[in-house]
Amino acid sequence: MSEGAGELPASAVVVSGMRPTGRLHLGHLLGTLRNWVALQERYRCFFFVADWHVLTTDYEGPREVEASVRAMVADWLAAGLDPERSVIFRQSDVKEHAELALLLGMITPLGWLERNPTYKEQREQLAGRDLSTFGFLGYPVLQAADILLYHGAGVPVGIDQVPHVELTREIARRFNHLYGATLVEPRALLSEAPKVPGLDGRKMSKSYGNTVPLDEEPAVIERAMGRMTTDPRRARRTDPGDPEDCPAFDLHRLYCTPEEIDWVRRGCTTAGIGCLECKQVMIRHVLADLAPHRERRAQLERDPAAIDAVLAAGAAQARRVAQETMAQVRAALGRGGAGREEGGAAARPHPARPGREPQA
Ligand code: SF4
Repeated sequence: MSEGAGELPASAVVVSGMRPTGRLHLGHLLGTLRNWVALQERYRCFFFVADWHVLTTDYEGPREVEASVRAMVADWLAAGLDPERSVIFRQSDVKEHAELALLLGMITPLGWLERNPTYKEQREQLAGRDLSTFGFLGYPVLQAADILLYHGAGVPVGIDQVPHVELTREIARRFNHLYGATLVEPRALLSEAPKVPGLDGRKMSKSYGNTVPLDEEPAVIERAMGRMTTDPRRARRTDPGDPEDCPAFDLHRLYCTPEEIDWVRRGCTTAGIGCLECKQVMIRHVLADLAPHRERRAQLERDPAAIDAVLAAGAAQARRVAQETMAQVRAALGRGGAGREEGGAAARPHPARPGREPQA
Protein backbone atom coordinates (compact mmCIF):
# COMPACT_ATOMS: atom_id res chain seq x y z
CA MET A 1 0.00 0.00 0.00
CA SER A 2 1.29 3.45 -0.79
CA GLU A 3 0.25 6.76 0.51
CA GLY A 4 1.33 10.31 1.15
CA ALA A 5 3.78 11.39 3.81
CA GLY A 6 0.93 13.04 5.70
CA GLU A 7 -0.22 9.61 6.93
CA LEU A 8 3.01 8.81 8.79
CA PRO A 9 3.41 9.58 12.50
CA ALA A 10 6.03 12.21 13.28
CA SER A 11 8.24 9.57 14.92
CA ALA A 12 8.40 7.51 11.71
CA VAL A 13 11.69 6.66 10.05
CA VAL A 14 12.13 7.56 6.39
CA VAL A 15 14.84 5.85 4.33
CA SER A 16 16.12 6.61 0.87
CA GLY A 17 19.30 6.26 -1.14
CA MET A 18 20.89 7.39 -4.37
CA ARG A 19 23.43 5.70 -6.60
CA PRO A 20 26.70 7.59 -7.07
CA THR A 21 26.88 7.35 -10.84
CA GLY A 22 28.26 10.74 -11.80
CA ARG A 23 27.32 14.41 -11.75
CA LEU A 24 23.92 15.23 -10.27
CA HIS A 25 21.66 17.39 -12.39
CA LEU A 26 18.64 19.66 -12.18
CA GLY A 27 16.31 16.65 -12.31
CA HIS A 28 17.88 15.27 -9.10
CA LEU A 29 17.61 18.64 -7.37
CA LEU A 30 13.98 19.33 -8.25
CA GLY A 31 12.73 15.75 -8.29
CA THR A 32 14.49 14.22 -5.28
CA LEU A 33 16.73 16.41 -3.15
CA ARG A 34 14.18 19.15 -2.41
CA ASN A 35 11.73 16.46 -1.32
CA TRP A 36 14.35 14.92 0.99
CA VAL A 37 15.06 18.33 2.50
CA ALA A 38 11.34 18.76 3.23
CA LEU A 39 11.11 15.25 4.73
CA GLN A 40 14.00 15.83 7.13
CA GLU A 41 11.96 18.62 8.71
CA ARG A 42 9.24 16.14 9.63
CA TYR A 43 10.77 12.69 10.19
CA ARG A 44 13.88 10.87 11.30
CA CYS A 45 15.58 10.39 7.97
CA PHE A 46 18.35 8.05 6.80
CA PHE A 47 19.84 9.01 3.42
CA PHE A 48 22.53 6.75 2.06
CA VAL A 49 24.96 6.66 -0.83
CA ALA A 50 24.02 3.41 -2.56
CA ASP A 51 27.53 2.49 -3.67
CA TRP A 52 27.01 -1.29 -3.59
CA HIS A 53 23.94 -0.85 -5.77
CA VAL A 54 26.02 0.65 -8.56
CA LEU A 55 27.98 -2.60 -8.72
CA THR A 56 24.80 -4.52 -9.57
CA THR A 57 24.88 -2.90 -13.02
CA ASP A 58 28.45 -1.49 -13.27
CA TYR A 59 30.70 -3.99 -11.54
CA GLU A 60 33.55 -3.20 -13.93
CA GLY A 61 34.10 0.37 -12.67
CA PRO A 62 34.36 0.40 -8.87
CA ARG A 63 36.92 3.24 -8.89
CA GLU A 64 34.57 5.54 -10.79
CA VAL A 65 31.95 4.88 -8.13
CA GLU A 66 34.38 5.92 -5.45
CA ALA A 67 35.16 9.17 -7.26
CA SER A 68 31.46 10.07 -7.45
CA VAL A 69 30.69 9.61 -3.76
CA ARG A 70 32.10 12.87 -2.37
CA ALA A 71 30.78 14.92 -5.30
CA MET A 72 27.31 13.54 -4.76
CA VAL A 73 27.33 14.20 -1.03
CA ALA A 74 28.55 17.75 -1.73
CA ASP A 75 25.41 18.24 -3.82
CA TRP A 76 23.22 16.75 -1.09
CA LEU A 77 24.60 19.13 1.51
CA ALA A 78 24.51 22.11 -0.85
CA ALA A 79 20.84 21.34 -1.52
CA GLY A 80 20.11 21.59 2.20
CA LEU A 81 20.41 18.10 3.67
CA ASP A 82 21.53 18.68 7.22
CA PRO A 83 23.70 16.10 9.02
CA GLU A 84 22.31 17.43 12.33
CA ARG A 85 18.82 16.38 11.26
CA SER A 86 19.41 13.45 8.91
CA VAL A 87 21.69 10.46 9.07
CA ILE A 88 23.83 10.71 5.94
CA PHE A 89 26.08 7.75 5.21
CA ARG A 90 27.54 5.38 2.71
CA GLN A 91 25.90 1.96 2.38
CA SER A 92 29.18 0.03 2.24
CA ASP A 93 30.30 1.59 5.56
CA VAL A 94 27.54 -0.35 7.32
CA LYS A 95 28.23 -4.03 6.67
CA GLU A 96 24.91 -5.03 8.23
CA HIS A 97 23.30 -4.15 4.87
CA ALA A 98 25.12 -7.14 3.39
CA GLU A 99 24.28 -9.47 6.27
CA LEU A 100 20.58 -8.66 6.19
CA ALA A 101 20.50 -8.91 2.38
CA LEU A 102 22.05 -12.37 2.65
CA LEU A 103 19.48 -13.54 5.17
CA LEU A 104 16.52 -12.02 3.31
CA GLY A 105 17.80 -13.69 0.14
CA MET A 106 17.27 -17.06 1.80
CA ILE A 107 13.52 -16.50 2.06
CA THR A 108 12.85 -14.52 -1.13
CA PRO A 109 11.27 -16.69 -3.83
CA LEU A 110 13.04 -16.44 -7.18
CA GLY A 111 9.71 -15.75 -8.88
CA TRP A 112 9.31 -12.49 -6.97
CA LEU A 113 12.61 -11.24 -8.36
CA GLU A 114 11.98 -12.44 -11.90
CA ARG A 115 8.60 -10.68 -11.89
CA ASN A 116 10.19 -7.39 -10.82
CA PRO A 117 9.10 -5.03 -13.64
CA THR A 118 12.41 -3.14 -13.76
CA TYR A 119 14.41 -6.37 -14.09
CA LYS A 120 13.28 -7.00 -17.68
CA GLU A 121 13.09 -3.32 -18.51
CA GLN A 122 16.66 -2.56 -17.42
CA ARG A 123 18.03 -5.63 -19.19
CA GLU A 124 16.56 -4.24 -22.40
CA GLN A 125 17.63 -0.63 -21.76
CA LEU A 126 21.17 -1.48 -20.67
CA ALA A 127 21.66 -3.92 -23.54
CA GLY A 128 25.43 -3.39 -23.80
CA ARG A 129 26.06 -4.56 -20.24
CA ASP A 130 26.39 -7.97 -18.71
CA LEU A 131 23.42 -8.14 -16.38
CA SER A 132 23.31 -11.93 -16.12
CA THR A 133 24.52 -11.78 -12.58
CA PHE A 134 23.20 -12.92 -9.25
CA GLY A 135 23.77 -9.37 -7.96
CA PHE A 136 21.55 -7.77 -10.59
CA LEU A 137 18.70 -10.24 -10.15
CA GLY A 138 18.94 -9.86 -6.38
CA TYR A 139 19.29 -6.08 -6.10
CA PRO A 140 15.70 -5.67 -4.82
CA VAL A 141 16.70 -7.88 -1.87
CA LEU A 142 19.58 -5.53 -1.10
CA GLN A 143 17.13 -2.64 -1.40
CA ALA A 144 14.81 -4.37 1.04
CA ALA A 145 17.69 -4.77 3.49
CA ASP A 146 18.59 -1.07 3.10
CA ILE A 147 15.10 -0.10 4.25
CA LEU A 148 14.28 -2.82 6.79
CA LEU A 149 17.57 -2.38 8.63
CA TYR A 150 16.37 1.01 9.91
CA HIS A 151 12.72 0.00 10.42
CA GLY A 152 11.90 2.48 7.67
CA ALA A 153 8.19 3.22 7.68
CA GLY A 154 8.30 5.51 4.66
CA VAL A 155 10.27 5.40 1.43
CA PRO A 156 10.01 8.46 -0.83
CA VAL A 157 9.69 7.21 -4.40
CA GLY A 158 8.28 8.06 -7.79
CA ILE A 159 5.40 5.98 -9.14
CA ASP A 160 7.76 3.72 -11.15
CA GLN A 161 9.54 2.58 -7.99
CA VAL A 162 6.43 1.60 -6.05
CA PRO A 163 6.82 -2.11 -7.01
CA HIS A 164 10.19 -2.17 -5.22
CA VAL A 165 8.64 -0.93 -2.01
CA GLU A 166 5.83 -3.45 -2.41
CA LEU A 167 8.44 -6.20 -2.78
CA THR A 168 10.16 -5.00 0.39
CA ARG A 169 6.82 -5.22 2.20
CA GLU A 170 6.31 -8.77 0.96
CA ILE A 171 9.79 -9.81 2.07
CA ALA A 172 9.27 -8.24 5.52
CA ARG A 173 5.89 -9.95 5.83
CA ARG A 174 7.36 -13.32 4.91
CA PHE A 175 10.16 -12.89 7.43
CA ASN A 176 7.71 -11.92 10.17
CA HIS A 177 5.45 -14.84 9.30
CA LEU A 178 8.32 -17.33 9.45
CA TYR A 179 10.22 -16.04 12.46
CA GLY A 180 7.97 -13.66 14.42
CA ALA A 181 7.25 -9.94 14.25
CA THR A 182 10.63 -8.32 13.75
CA LEU A 183 10.65 -6.12 10.67
CA VAL A 184 8.54 -3.04 9.93
CA GLU A 185 6.69 -3.05 6.61
CA PRO A 186 7.47 0.23 4.84
CA ARG A 187 5.13 2.31 2.74
CA ALA A 188 5.89 4.17 -0.46
CA LEU A 189 5.66 7.92 0.01
CA LEU A 190 4.58 9.06 -3.39
CA SER A 191 6.10 12.45 -4.00
CA GLU A 192 4.65 14.90 -6.46
CA ALA A 193 7.91 14.96 -8.38
CA PRO A 194 7.81 17.74 -10.93
CA LYS A 195 8.31 16.84 -14.55
CA VAL A 196 11.85 17.95 -15.38
CA PRO A 197 12.53 17.77 -19.10
CA GLY A 198 16.05 17.30 -20.43
CA LEU A 199 17.59 19.46 -23.13
CA ASP A 200 16.20 17.18 -25.86
CA GLY A 201 12.68 17.12 -24.41
CA ARG A 202 12.88 13.61 -22.94
CA LYS A 203 13.03 13.09 -19.18
CA MET A 204 16.28 14.56 -17.84
CA SER A 205 18.63 11.63 -17.40
CA LYS A 206 22.35 11.00 -17.52
CA SER A 207 21.79 8.03 -19.80
CA TYR A 208 20.17 10.31 -22.41
CA GLY A 209 23.03 12.84 -22.20
CA ASN A 210 20.46 15.66 -21.91
CA THR A 211 21.13 17.02 -18.42
CA VAL A 212 21.83 20.37 -16.77
CA PRO A 213 24.58 19.38 -14.29
CA LEU A 214 24.44 21.18 -10.94
CA ASP A 215 28.17 21.91 -11.00
CA GLU A 216 28.24 23.31 -14.55
CA GLU A 217 29.40 26.85 -15.37
CA PRO A 218 26.46 29.27 -15.75
CA ALA A 219 27.58 30.32 -19.25
CA VAL A 220 27.61 26.69 -20.39
CA ILE A 221 24.15 26.10 -18.90
CA GLU A 222 22.82 29.24 -20.58
CA ARG A 223 24.13 28.16 -23.98
CA ALA A 224 22.87 24.59 -23.62
CA MET A 225 19.42 25.65 -22.43
CA GLY A 226 19.21 28.22 -25.20
CA ARG A 227 19.29 25.28 -27.63
CA MET A 228 16.68 23.29 -25.72
CA THR A 229 14.00 21.56 -27.81
CA THR A 230 10.79 23.55 -28.32
CA ASP A 231 7.48 23.13 -30.12
CA PRO A 232 8.48 21.89 -33.62
CA ARG A 233 5.73 24.09 -35.13
CA ARG A 234 7.91 27.10 -34.41
CA ALA A 235 10.39 26.30 -37.17
CA ARG A 236 10.43 29.99 -38.15
CA ARG A 237 10.16 33.03 -35.91
CA THR A 238 6.87 33.95 -37.59
CA ASP A 239 5.26 30.51 -36.97
CA PRO A 240 2.93 30.45 -33.95
CA GLY A 241 3.29 27.58 -31.51
CA ASP A 242 1.64 26.04 -28.47
CA PRO A 243 3.43 26.03 -25.08
CA GLU A 244 1.62 22.79 -24.20
CA ASP A 245 3.69 21.07 -26.90
CA CYS A 246 6.97 22.65 -25.83
CA PRO A 247 9.35 20.77 -23.48
CA ALA A 248 11.03 24.02 -22.43
CA PHE A 249 7.68 25.26 -21.16
CA ASP A 250 7.68 22.53 -18.48
CA LEU A 251 10.59 24.46 -16.95
CA HIS A 252 8.74 27.77 -17.34
CA ARG A 253 5.93 26.19 -15.34
CA LEU A 254 8.36 25.32 -12.53
CA TYR A 255 10.23 28.58 -12.42
CA CYS A 256 8.30 31.53 -13.87
CA THR A 257 5.83 33.92 -12.27
CA PRO A 258 2.14 33.83 -13.37
CA GLU A 259 2.70 37.09 -15.27
CA GLU A 260 5.64 35.59 -17.14
CA ILE A 261 3.62 32.47 -17.95
CA ASP A 262 0.85 34.68 -19.42
CA TRP A 263 3.43 36.56 -21.47
CA VAL A 264 4.83 33.24 -22.81
CA ARG A 265 1.39 31.87 -23.71
CA ARG A 266 0.40 35.04 -25.54
CA GLY A 267 3.76 35.51 -27.27
CA CYS A 268 4.07 31.87 -28.33
CA THR A 269 0.57 31.41 -29.75
CA THR A 270 0.74 34.70 -31.70
CA ALA A 271 4.40 34.40 -32.73
CA GLY A 272 4.91 37.67 -30.87
CA ILE A 273 8.12 36.42 -29.25
CA GLY A 274 10.97 34.21 -30.43
CA CYS A 275 11.91 30.95 -28.69
CA LEU A 276 15.29 32.20 -27.52
CA GLU A 277 13.74 35.33 -26.01
CA CYS A 278 11.12 33.13 -24.35
CA LYS A 279 13.63 30.64 -22.94
CA GLN A 280 15.88 33.37 -21.59
CA VAL A 281 13.21 34.39 -19.07
CA MET A 282 13.16 30.86 -17.69
CA ILE A 283 16.95 30.40 -17.91
CA ARG A 284 17.45 33.49 -15.73
CA HIS A 285 15.36 31.86 -12.99
CA VAL A 286 17.22 28.53 -13.30
CA LEU A 287 20.60 30.25 -13.00
CA ALA A 288 19.44 32.31 -10.02
CA ASP A 289 18.20 29.13 -8.34
CA LEU A 290 21.46 27.28 -8.98
CA ALA A 291 23.82 30.13 -7.99
CA PRO A 292 23.66 29.61 -4.18
CA HIS A 293 23.81 25.85 -4.70
CA ARG A 294 26.99 26.23 -6.77
CA GLU A 295 28.54 28.47 -4.15
CA ARG A 296 27.82 26.09 -1.25
CA ARG A 297 28.96 23.15 -3.32
CA ALA A 298 32.25 24.86 -4.23
CA GLN A 299 32.94 25.55 -0.54
CA LEU A 300 32.30 21.92 0.33
CA GLU A 301 34.50 20.67 -2.49
CA ARG A 302 37.36 22.73 -1.12
CA ASP A 303 37.01 20.82 2.14
CA PRO A 304 36.72 17.11 1.30
CA ALA A 305 37.64 16.23 4.89
CA ALA A 306 34.37 17.84 6.03
CA ILE A 307 32.40 15.60 3.66
CA ASP A 308 34.30 12.55 4.90
CA ALA A 309 33.51 13.59 8.47
CA VAL A 310 29.78 13.83 7.67
CA LEU A 311 29.89 10.34 6.16
CA ALA A 312 31.88 8.92 9.08
CA ALA A 313 29.54 10.39 11.70
CA GLY A 314 26.51 9.24 9.72
CA ALA A 315 27.92 5.72 9.37
CA ALA A 316 28.49 5.54 13.14
CA GLN A 317 24.86 6.54 13.80
CA ALA A 318 23.50 4.22 11.12
CA ARG A 319 25.63 1.34 12.39
CA ARG A 320 24.21 1.64 15.89
CA VAL A 321 20.65 1.26 14.60
CA ALA A 322 21.65 -1.43 12.10
CA GLN A 323 23.41 -3.47 14.78
CA GLU A 324 20.34 -3.35 17.00
CA THR A 325 18.14 -4.53 14.15
CA MET A 326 20.57 -7.33 13.30
CA ALA A 327 20.58 -8.48 16.92
CA GLN A 328 16.77 -8.74 16.68
CA VAL A 329 16.96 -10.49 13.31
CA ARG A 330 19.57 -13.01 14.51
CA ALA A 331 17.54 -13.64 17.64
CA ALA A 332 14.41 -14.20 15.57
CA LEU A 333 16.35 -16.78 13.57
CA GLY A 334 17.46 -18.45 16.79
CA ARG A 335 21.02 -17.24 16.45
CA GLY A 336 23.14 -15.01 18.61
CA GLY A 337 22.53 -15.93 22.24
CA ALA A 338 19.17 -14.67 23.44
CA GLY A 339 17.36 -16.07 20.43
CA ARG A 340 18.43 -19.63 21.29
CA GLU A 341 16.23 -19.57 24.37
CA GLU A 342 12.74 -21.00 24.15
CA GLY A 343 10.73 -18.54 22.10
CA GLY A 344 13.73 -16.19 21.99
CA ALA A 345 13.37 -12.76 20.51
CA ALA A 346 11.06 -14.18 17.90
CA ALA A 347 8.41 -14.25 20.57
CA ARG A 348 9.19 -10.73 21.75
CA PRO A 349 7.42 -7.85 20.06
CA HIS A 350 9.59 -5.40 18.21
CA PRO A 351 9.77 -2.05 20.07
CA ALA A 352 8.49 -0.25 17.00
CA ARG A 353 5.42 -2.48 16.84
CA PRO A 354 4.39 -3.44 20.38
CA GLY A 355 2.20 -6.48 20.64
CA ARG A 356 2.07 -7.04 16.90
CA GLU A 357 1.28 -10.60 15.91
CA PRO A 358 3.13 -12.39 13.16
CA GLN A 359 1.32 -11.95 9.88
CA ALA A 360 0.15 -14.66 7.59
S1 SF4 B 1 7.93 30.52 -27.64
FE1 SF4 B 1 8.47 29.60 -25.69
S2 SF4 B 1 6.79 28.21 -25.19
FE2 SF4 B 1 6.65 28.69 -27.38
S3 SF4 B 1 7.74 27.06 -28.40
FE3 SF4 B 1 9.19 28.72 -28.12
S4 SF4 B 1 10.21 28.28 -26.16
FE4 SF4 B 1 8.37 27.04 -26.28
